[in-house]
Amino acid sequence: MKHVAIIGAGITGLTAAFYLKRKGVPVTVYEACGRVGGVIQSIRKDGFLAESGPNTILETSPRIAQLVRDAGLESRKLNSDPKAEARYVVRGGKPVAMPSSQLGIFTSELLSARAKFALIREPFIPPRRDDKEESVAEFVTRRLNREFLDRMVDALVAGIYAGDPHKLSVRHALPRLKALEDKYGSLIKGQVRGARERKKSGAVARDRAPKFSFDEGLQVLPDALAAQLGESVKLNSPVTKLTQMSDGWRVTSSTGEIEHGAVIYCGTAFKLAELKIESQAPLNFSAFAEIRYPPVASVVLGFRREDVTHPCAGFGMLIPGIEGFKILGTIFSSALFPNRAPAGHVLLSIYVGGERQPELAALPSDELVKRVCEDLRVLLGVKGRPVFTHHHFWPRAIPQYNVGYGRFKDLFDEIESKSPGLFFAGSFRDGVSLGDSIVSGGNIAGRVEEFLKISGGGATGQK
Ligand SMILES: Cc1cc2nc3c(=O)[nH]c(=O)nc-3n(C[C@H](O)[C@H](O)[C@H](O)COP(=O)(O)OP(=O)(O)OC[C@H]3O[C@@H](n4cnc5c(N)ncnc54)[C@H](O)[C@@H]3O)c2cc1C
Repeated sequence: MKHVAIIGAGITGLTAAFYLKRKGVPVTVYEACGRVGGVIQSIRKDGFLAESGPNTILETSPRIAQLVRDAGLESRKLNSDPKAEARYVVRGGKPVAMPSSQLGIFTSELLSARAKFALIREPFIPPRRDDKEESVAEFVTRRLNREFLDRMVDALVAGIYAGDPHKLSVRHALPRLKALEDKYGSLIKGQVRGARERKKSGAVARDRAPKFSFDEGLQVLPDALAAQLGESVKLNSPVTKLTQMSDGWRVTSSTGEIEHGAVIYCGTAFKLAELKIESQAPLNFSAFAEIRYPPVASVVLGFRREDVTHPCAGFGMLIPGIEGFKILGTIFSSALFPNRAPAGHVLLSIYVGGERQPELAALPSDELVKRVCEDLRVLLGVKGRPVFTHHHFWPRAIPQYNVGYGRFKDLFDEIESKSPGLFFAGSFRDGVSLGDSIVSGGNIAGRVEEFLKISGGGATGQK
């Protein structure tokens, strides 16, 4: 039986390890830190439950719910409050609710008459059929207009990537948007026909997909997967070198050298670039250092209910750069899930920095909280000081699928084809959401299982 090494105990690595182990494949998960979960980090303190990293999982694939079931976590899963659906985008210094229906955009104060006219005109704009890779900004201004970019899409990409629409590639960062143009010739036609097709097939649109967490936050999921993996997870074990052998790979970590039949790299792109490699075909990971991960600070603040004028009864608010605030966006955490704050309190998760203002992310805690509170005073009518504060700085937060990202994807394909038994999965390759990472981890487990069968080190089929 060939043993598989998995590098990184974030959600991708743990999902891959969990499914391989269920198939009877022995695994070792090497994790550089002293904890599992990667960027998932839930902290219970003073009656509040703060998330330093992601807040919710969007159920965009049935495989996500399947993992929750397989991990035995259904009873601990918390769907977000259906009343907390409203999303706000800031315009003129105040949060304006996004329309809940597509037609609602025409009566919304979020866009001017000119931008609404751009929507009506959009189906008549011919689709681009050449191979030029556009930025998100180029794509949106071509199909809609500048106001759509500055007012809506800039806020949206700040929420997903903490990114810059002028750098992000529409093909790689927002592939579903590009696919609407490719398949239907127009975003509006695609929305309408896509809705009809989903109605027939029972599929759920991404913006309608259910959101969830767990009773003690998202950390519950990696903890449960790690508990089932038991001794197979090696914490404080950074992998520093991979050496190709005649029949697999030798993994060098801080705890020694072990040979494995296959290796799955589920770490970050910038750490991959630091890995030493000795292989039959010349391989070079240094190009992956060019994948940009901007800094982000997450600031989680608890306030007395009476100190916040806005009801905060929705998912959260996004802030376009053009509005000139420090914060990128805020999730109304205590409206989403019932146990996030003590009674009579509001919990807000605020993100700062990203590509928009990277220098702000690294500010010391006190200064950051002060600036965030200045913004919240204007945007949400926050009066008092926070009664709860939690701050986490991510020096390199989320991989940016910028224009030209295809060359990194091609390089992963090329390395995998040149070096049998070496695989890559995770947010630098298969999409940056938690759902994407879960699907990525499950897919790579399947591919490695196939590889082991073909190379004569197959699974026993036990669970
Ligand atoms: C601030 C923030 C907010 C987010 N919010 C959301 C959200 O609300 N919803 C959502 O869907 N997504 C969100 N995301 C994105 C999502 O959380 C990530 O894309 C996903 O968790 C990535 O998981 P991963 O396992 O691929 O990588 P990671 O979580 O980065 O895990 C990689 C692991 O590999 C380890 N590692 C790296 N190199 C080595 C090595 N050489 N040896 C051993 N171990 C190594 C690292 O220590 C780390 O533990 C957010 C991300 C951030 C940063």
